[in-house]
Amino acid sequence: MEIYIYDGSRSSNLNVPEIAQYAREQLRKAIVEVRRDIVQRSPQKLPEAARAFARAKVLNPMKKIEDREPLYGEVSYEENRMSDAKNMTFGNIYDGFVIQEHFGNYIPKEELTLRSIHIVLTNQLLATFDEGDLRYHIRSGIFGIPSLISLTGLVEGPARPREFYLLKQSMGPRWDGAAMAQSAEEFRDRMVDHNDPRLTEIMKGYVMQAAFYNLTGAPFCEDVNCRLFNAHWQEEMIKAQITSPYEFCPEHEKALKALHQGKGGEGSPPEAGAQPKADAPKEQPVAQVRGRT
Ligand SMILES: [Zn+2]
Repeated sequence: MEIYIYDGSRSSNLNVPEIAQYAREQLRKAIVEVRRDIVQRSPQKLPEAARAFARAKVLNPMKKIEDREPLYGEVSYEENRMSDAKNMTFGNIYDGFVIQEHFGNYIPKEELTLRSIHIVLTNQLLATFDEGDLRYHIRSGIFGIPSLISLTGLVEGPARPREFYLLKQSMGPRWDGAAMAQSAEEFRDRMVDHNDPRLTEIMKGYVMQAAFYNLTGAPFCEDVNCRLFNAHWQEEMIKAQITSPYEFCPEHEKALKALHQGKGGEGSPPEAGAQPKADAPKEQPVAQVRGRT
């Protein structure tokens, strides 16, 4: 089994080699390779990628995006952002399924095998349209071929503590960067911030969820202490990924052991882009998110 991690996180906070090493230790039969950003690996595709992102941009969170011809300025914004590896801007929200489908074109044919898992890390915000409440929700992970995990989505996707929102609301116009930093410190045990050094530890669990999606079609677990728990709150995410007394629940420990011993686990991966709807994370409705990592 090969796992390819494409590092488009653009964050000095995220230790991707450490995450790869973790996956190697957990999936002992896997060869885990860290690659550079998926678009930067194929610079000739940059104009095409810029157009795809511009088209995938969510203009109205209450409305599913429609196929449209993006404006020149939108495309050049994306091209500039993507071509400059030091550019850490984020804030636009993109339809994650459209981006996933586009990135599917970057995977070499010979690596589209049942034994290959492709995981794209991005610093951009991805969302999916929920047909239930008819709006976009920011997502931390969108699993498939390839799987996408958004670093900024880990922070903006799962909900922060209720008290945080109350505080923010009560401060009204006095809410600023300093107030945000102070509350991030105050609620440290229950929420993460964009510069949080714990994001490396958290990302390990999401990479494992992506691996389980490809291996078994079931990325999530009901156990709040398991790395595969589908956290809807940041507090739950911290518990499952950091403060839990164990890495995986007994059931998933057993599944990993079976993989080491070569018993099953390498069945047919689910169809590209397929998403387990019933289990899909119900994350924060899209609001205005602007900032830099
Ligand atoms: Zn589990």
